[in-house]
Parts: sequence; structure tokens; C-alpha cells
Amino acid sequence: MRKQIAASNWKMNLNLQKADELLQTVLTTVPKLKAHQQVIIAVPFPFLQMAKEKIATNSNFEIAAQNCHHKKSGAFTGEISTEMLQSICVNYCIVGHSERREYFLETNNQIAEKINLCLADQLAPIFCCGENLSVRDSENQNNFVKVQLSESLFHLSEDEIKKIIIAYEPIWAIGTGKTATANQVQQMHAHIRTVIAEKYGEVVANEISILYGGSVNAANAKEIFNCQDVDGGLVGGASLKAVDFVEIISGLK
Ligand code: PEP
Repeated sequence: MRKQIAASNWKMNLNLQKADELLQTVLTTVPKLKAHQQVIIAVPFPFLQMAKEKIATNSNFEIAAQNCHHKKSGAFTGEISTEMLQSICVNYCIVGHSERREYFLETNNQIAEKINLCLADQLAPIFCCGENLSVRDSENQNNFVKVQLSESLFHLSEDEIKKIIIAYEPIWAIGTGKTATANQVQQMHAHIRTVIAEKYGEVVANEISILYGGSVNAANAKEIFNCQDVDGGLVGGASLKAVDFVEIISGLK
């Protein structure tokens, strides 16, 4: 069975004490998970060390960075390299989140560079893709996401692409409370898997976990996660409340 993943994205929220408390509550209240179920907590850079130490005794938990720089090292004041992340034993990194694309003008090509650096430094990228409302309204979402996938991922070898986690996050559903329907989610996830299969073959496509993100909450997670091509979720707002996030984790297949 493909890995089923509940990933949280805390974004620029909390402080160290509140983050510690939130993670502690999640860890002490989460039910026992199966081997194929995984929780990945994407925390702000200053909390990585604390979070890494805290999850050390739960083998179903991993920590992720929310971003990395697209150059290996150098005069980029304020940026964080993949090598820095690797040196503190972070194993995952969100790449290409729509907020990075929108506010920091990240392009598909830069995201490809980040993916390469992540893989070179043994970080598994959580690659975000997804269309905005005008693309969805013009029914061009399938082509839009295909271009995102091909420009950022399709230079990878078969072995490399298998290390990527894909998060389909329609921008119109992020932080808006407007969740895509289970049907819309399944259709896009099936499309993503088909696009990958066309390039890498079905065996590879069937190994890749594809998460849904966009206003996932305690009430809708289970229905979405139950869709055939959905392998869990990337959760923003609802992951900041321990009780809600634990309920979301409990919805994993
Ligand atoms: C996100 O930021 O990746 C996200 C999905 O946020 P939210 O769950 O708040 O929509």
C-alpha cells in the first residue's frame, strides 16, 4: 500500500512555547498508527530542532521544513539551504507552496532547482501544485497542473521521482474554508497519476503518494482521504488545533 500521510503546515504561526505545547498534545493524543501511515509536521525554521527532538520516539512522525533556497549556498542573506536542513537531520521539505509562488514569485524552474538540491541532500520534497480560481473557472486546471508537474519534476529519473510526495492544493481552496468536493479531488488526483504514468509508467505512478490540501478539517478529512487516488492531506489552519489535527490523522486509510 502507498504511504498515507497527514502533513501539517504551520506556516508563520505560533511561538516556540506554543509550538512545543501543540506538538506535545498531538503526540500524546494521537492513536497508534499503522506502519504505512505517517505524520509530517512542517514547522517554521526556528522550531525544527525542538520538533525533531520531540518526535524522536514516535517512528510514524517526521518533521519538514516549509521551504529552502534554490541555490546551494552563498550570499543570500536570510535564506536557508538544503545542506543546512540536512545537517540538522530534517528529512522532508515543502517545495513550491502556492504562498511561495504568489508572494515570493517562485517559478516552476526555481522549484525544479529546489527539488534537485533537496534530493542531493537527502530531503524528500513535498511538491505543491494547483490552480487558481480563474484557471478552474475556465476548466483549464488539468493542463495547468500538467505544466507545473512537467516543468518542475519531469527532468527527474525514475528513482528520483519516486522520492517525491505530491500535494495537490487548489489555490481557491487554501485557507478559504471552501474545500474541493471529493469528486473534484479524486478527478485531479487521477489526472496527476495518469500524467506521471505517461512519463514514468504505471508502476512508478502507483508508488507516489498524492496528498490533497485546501481547507481540510476534522469533518471532511475522512471522506477526502477515502478517495482512491488520495493518499492523505496537507493541512494548514486545522493543524494548529491539536484535537482537530488528531481527528484528521485518524481519517487516514
Ligand atoms: C496549506 O497551506 O497548505 C493549506 C492547505 O492550508 P489550509 O488547510 O488552511 O487551507
